[in-house]
Amino acid sequence: MKIEQVIGREIYDSRGHPTLECELVLDEGLHVIASVPSGMSKGPYAAAELRDKKRLMGLGVNKAIESLEDNIAPILIGHKPSVVELDLAMIEADGTENKSHLGANAMLAASIAVCRAQAAIDGVPLYDLIAYLCNYNSVSIPFPMFNVINGGAHSDSTLPIQELMIIPVDQRTFRSAFEESITTFHAIEKLLQKKGKQVGIGDEGGFSADFKDEYEALDVLSEALEQSQGKFVIALDLAANQLYDSKTKKYQWYKKKLSRDELIARYVDLVDKYPILSIEDGIDAADWDGWSLLMNTLGDTVQIVGDDLFATNVQRVALGVEDGLANAVVIKPNQVGTVTEALQAVKFAKDNGWNVIASHRAGETNDSFIVDLAVGISADYIKAGGCCRGERLSKYNQLLRIEDTLQRSLLEE
Ligand code: PEP
Ligand code: MG
Repeated sequence: MKIEQVIGREIYDSRGHPTLECELVLDEGLHVIASVPSGMSKGPYAAAELRDKKRLMGLGVNKAIESLEDNIAPILIGHKPSVVELDLAMIEADGTENKSHLGANAMLAASIAVCRAQAAIDGVPLYDLIAYLCNYNSVSIPFPMFNVINGGAHSDSTLPIQELMIIPVDQRTFRSAFEESITTFHAIEKLLQKKGKQVGIGDEGGFSADFKDEYEALDVLSEALEQSQGKFVIALDLAANQLYDSKTKKYQWYKKKLSRDELIARYVDLVDKYPILSIEDGIDAADWDGWSLLMNTLGDTVQIVGDDLFATNVQRVALGVEDGLANAVVIKPNQVGTVTEALQAVKFAKDNGWNVIASHRAGETNDSFIVDLAVGISADYIKAGGCCRGERLSKYNQLLRIEDTLQRSLLEE
């Protein structure tokens, strides 16, 4: 079965911004659709999206549609959908370091659509195809990191920490983990209201409220976790690039400006006081000495995660492994532009003993590809947002579906 037509379409993401959808038409009548998310706190090493300069606040994707239909379509049409082969052909045709010619949004929309078509033609679930592409002979459901409080660039609140997440650690299934977490999620909202907070919802479906400091936010979380039946640990994403001023070399923390050492001392105190398992992007992506310092200070006991630091780029992950900058990596396919390159970064990280966290973006669609990817690579964790809003729930519902399918097939064996 071959690809006959490649259609690009401008649709809208969860933040009300335009994004790109790719529809592939294959002979024998098969259609597949894929759409791409977009980040809010993007780092300097992420691949470039093609956006229209003026249309729709400068965010229109007509240029990306042109790239998809005029430049990428000729690479795909007439070929069997084979994601690695076609990704490599797109990468060669792009020929840039950061995908600025074909556009990472156009390339990834095509890449995911091809991957989906390949799985459909092979008659296997998408997660099984992903595992096969990585040479893994099993799949597994990752631990969810539920985003419960949004701050930083994802909310209007004063909280500098972008994401406060809870990880259920004592549940045997994703379904029971979700039940425990969604109950706790709603309990957090009630607690915030009881404390007189104005509660909103941030970009990723977690609650957004003003706190006098991060301790107040973590105290509310701790109170909710204590009331819960289940056992949880906490993860933070600082998205520290957003807080950093490269001129003064200081991080904006409420009204204070913290040096790198003061910020790390803050993390040490937080880890001491709360059950924090994981700290993501705790230091600006350009400050490698700072990352080493953070690893040397907390890396033995805490998961130190690079997101913007590595941008899902295998070469950057390799440098990080060499220099001991982190012990875990976030995988966001749109930071690099193709499924194949995202899988390369996964394999390298895992081969070097790092944990892997598959992640959604702030601007999401209902496409749940990231979930199949997470299961196929047996990611340690998945970040898919809070326990509300359709684009976040489309991920959790897909995880419930996959778990159900895997359990049924185990019973049939
Ligand atoms: C993140 O920083 O991990 C994240 C998901 O947010 P964004 O999509 O804004 O990068
Ligand atoms: Mg992050």
